[in-house]
Amino acid sequence: MQGRRSPYRPTDAAYFERRRHQLLAKRWTVFQQRVAAKTQGRCALCTRPIAEPANPGQSNRESGIRFHLMIPATLGGQATLANMFVTHRWCQQQYHRRYGHHHMPGDPARFLTSGETILDGHVVRAESSPTHH
Ligand SMILES: [Zn+2]
Repeated sequence: MQGRRSPYRPTDAAYFERRRHQLLAKRWTVFQQRVAAKTQGRCALCTRPIAEPANPGQSNRESGIRFHLMIPATLGGQATLANMFVTHRWCQQQYHRRYGHHHMPGDPARFLTSGETILDGHVVRAESSPTHH
């Protein structure tokens, strides 16, 4: 017998995490859902579930969600599946406060899609390579 679900029973915590995530994800596009699936529905910056507040001090208030470009658009980053991550708005604000808005993350090549390369700190479309023709 299943019994009634309670958010206060530890065994049901995973169920309620999933449920909160499903409610949140209903408002997203398919693309945004694919972006969130990359991190199993967790914030790319703090790794806590995206459906829960980033800052424990915010307790029951929803902190807000952002779809974040790891390589910023000003450096040539595109809104591709590779370059986008879901974050708490609060975590994204902390990130920008620390690194500014024109920050290339560590090992940026992992955020590139095929055909892109980094030249002088900016993402550019790679020259067509002989292997593709
Ligand atoms: Zn976060």
